[in-house]
Amino acid sequence: MFTFDNSYVRELEGLYVFGCAEPKVAPRISRLNYSLAEELGLAPDELDSPAWAQYLSGNAVAPGSQPIAQAYAGHQFGNFVPQLGDGRALLLGEVFDGSGHRRDIQLKGSGPTAFSRNGDGKAALGPMLREYLMGEAMHRLGIATSRALAVVETGEPVYRETALPGAVLTRVAASHIRIGTFEYVAARSDFPLLKRLADYTIARHYPELQGQPYIEFLRAFSMRLAGLVAQWMGAGFIHGVMNTDNMALSGETMDYGPCAFMEHYDPLAVFSSIDRRGRYAYGNQPAIAQWNLARFAEALLPLLDEDGERAVELATQEVDAFAGHYRGAWLSVMRRKLGLKREEEEDASLADGFLEAMLAGEADHTLAWRSLADAAEGGESLFGLFVGNREKLDAWLPRWQARLAREERLRDGIAADLRRTNPFVIPRNYLVEEALEAASNGNMEPFDRLLDALAEPYAENDATRSYALPAPREHTACYQTFCGT
Ligand code: AMP
Ligand code: MG
Repeated sequence: MFTFDNSYVRELEGLYVFGCAEPKVAPRISRLNYSLAEELGLAPDELDSPAWAQYLSGNAVAPGSQPIAQAYAGHQFGNFVPQLGDGRALLLGEVFDGSGHRRDIQLKGSGPTAFSRNGDGKAALGPMLREYLMGEAMHRLGIATSRALAVVETGEPVYRETALPGAVLTRVAASHIRIGTFEYVAARSDFPLLKRLADYTIARHYPELQGQPYIEFLRAFSMRLAGLVAQWMGAGFIHGVMNTDNMALSGETMDYGPCAFMEHYDPLAVFSSIDRRGRYAYGNQPAIAQWNLARFAEALLPLLDEDGERAVELATQEVDAFAGHYRGAWLSVMRRKLGLKREEEEDASLADGFLEAMLAGEADHTLAWRSLADAAEGGESLFGLFVGNREKLDAWLPRWQARLAREERLRDGIAADLRRTNPFVIPRNYLVEEALEAASNGNMEPFDRLLDALAEPYAENDATRSYALPAPREHTACYQTFCGT
């Protein structure tokens, strides 16, 4: 059983309302994440019980849990909404994992709350399984993320365009404090609450900064955000809805809605059906992160300096500095992806050169990077991937080979590093769709096999090989993901 310790409830009155889940007639555990359960100190067979089906559906309140819906605001596609909040989620409380880290346990899809507006507070099975899968994939790629502990089928339909099976996801996150949480307080000009929220967030996620000026907090978050987005870019991940209410102060990726991994490299790639103007396109993500950071900085202004003008000056400097933090984080991701340990002035242009070659060659992003391992050893598996113009690749390769020579390391060592850095398997959209389609017809086998393959994204073996290939181009050209509501 969890041992809850609910610091959010204790310390942040004014930022939540108590709530209770809507009763479900016949909850049934669909999927359990045993490795995460173990991290949380739960015995795997403990979870797999009727009592837990009750807890994880919201039908029963576990001892020590104080379910709340958190209040937050947010900029959605650029427009400020002063009150959003958990419209279909309940924070059950916090627990300490095996490493002593405080983690939130949240139910998503548990029923309406005070923040539901016109929504039904529910979630459908497909999108919840999708969130489970994407979170695990990101985690195994070494990217900070919230994760799913369980998916419970409610036994009741939810009504979208059609009737769909309902589900509740149990989400585990470092916290659910968002940029939008700060915006909520700032919009109400509640200075004491702003200070409490900032102090709470610092103690929880940036404890080394306690007692420091708040500008250090802004800077530390900026650097964490830069690092996170650089990793997304390296992996070809497109979040899809980088609204400020979906950006966690912990630096974890959260709220997997219409997210997707890119197949062939394209900075303009957008898959989300609700992102009609491409605001959250792959190549826009760093700039949007900075835009979001600016919204966070604005919310923090009263804490930065008593003198309003001076506060704006300080905030502006930090927001401007994001570009440099991002560039640095991106460059270190790129160096690893290129097999470089030493640092040279030209490395950024080398990375750009490869991306340009990929663009011209219409190459699959994941496999092009992956094939560098082979190319470092003199292999030619790269070439078949560049189905478009290959001139840029042909010009680039000798440049990279010359650069590798200056590493003064053995080629098989470099190749081994590259195989630990550039994944072989990512959750390709067509595979995710196939798995979810089968799941919606009651067949979980494709989902489980895909999940297994994604658990070892760097391995090339019989389990992973059938998941490594790109989708037929006709599929990617018109592929769209729909918001998980
Ligand atoms: P999202 O786009 O999932 O980040 O959600 C944006 C806002 O809409 C949040 O306040 C959610 O709680 C709310 N929301 C999304 N789906 C539902 C739903 N089915 N019922 C009630 N609120 C929802
Ligand atoms: Mg959200």
